[in-house]
Amino acid sequence: MMNAAFRALGLDWRYLRLPVPAECFEETARALPGSGYRGANVTVPHKLAALRIADEASAAARAIGAANTLTFVGGSITADNTDAGGLLDALEAAGATPAGARALVLGAGGAGRAVAWALREAGAAEVAVWNRTPERARAVARDLGVDVASSAAPRFADLLVNATMVGLGTPLDRDAALADLGLAGVADPPATVVDLVYGEHLTPVCAWAEMGGARVVDGLEILVRQGARSLESWTGRRAPLDVMRAAARDATA
Ligand code: NAP
Repeated sequence: MMNAAFRALGLDWRYLRLPVPAECFEETARALPGSGYRGANVTVPHKLAALRIADEASAAARAIGAANTLTFVGGSITADNTDAGGLLDALEAAGATPAGARALVLGAGGAGRAVAWALREAGAAEVAVWNRTPERARAVARDLGVDVASSAAPRFADLLVNATMVGLGTPLDRDAALADLGLAGVADPPATVVDLVYGEHLTPVCAWAEMGGARVVDGLEILVRQGARSLESWTGRRAPLDVMRAAARDATA
């Protein structure tokens, strides 16, 4: 996706996978600018360390407590969390405004935390977090000033976001996945459903939402949107969304 975008922008840049052991993260990240890198996406388990080593951090990264994007400029490292903004960009493009919405977030891991913060910042009237392990939902609620939901069934929500790992991988047992979330037998999804999970097949949550007539935003669109924000931070150029979307869809097909 990123390499397709660089080509479309006429940039002679490469996006590389760089496996890094946790104990070498800081040393590696600090060495990258000197090796010609302009930035990096950072994933598990380095997202907390990425924020810690940064000289500056966006409000999103600070509030969420984790970074997925580092940008290197003039010897300084800036950290951002584009999962939050990427979600809001995708919602806006789908014509779904979080302002005033009652939102239910499933999952209290890194992604759930980013989603809850983004929706709260975007003016959602209510943000409630449900998690399989309730203590983690309570921690997110406490840290971000949102609510805890006792059930994943969206009785009063206008917007539901699946930020759990449920639905990841194949083969998919749709009923079992929905049962894990307590959504089996729930016939009425909220007006808008976002699933952060993506893969080769329609995910269980997307299938459930489509069947119930919801507006669906899939995980690949979120991937493209958060990636677009990273790319814009590194290049200062507008991300070629169509090129990125096509490349991401090709890669997962
Ligand atoms: P994480 O920090 O490891 O959190 C995993 C979450 O999934 C936790 O809330 C966990 O609940 C829950 N979970 C796992 N298995 C479950 C099950 N069988 N039933 C119910 N809940 C279950 O992971 P993360 O970084 O937040 O990522 C979560 C998902 O979002 C992943 O699938 C990831 O690929 C996706 N994601 C997508 C994008 C995108 O761009 N599309 C961006 C970020 C993340 P417990 O606390 O109870 O274990």
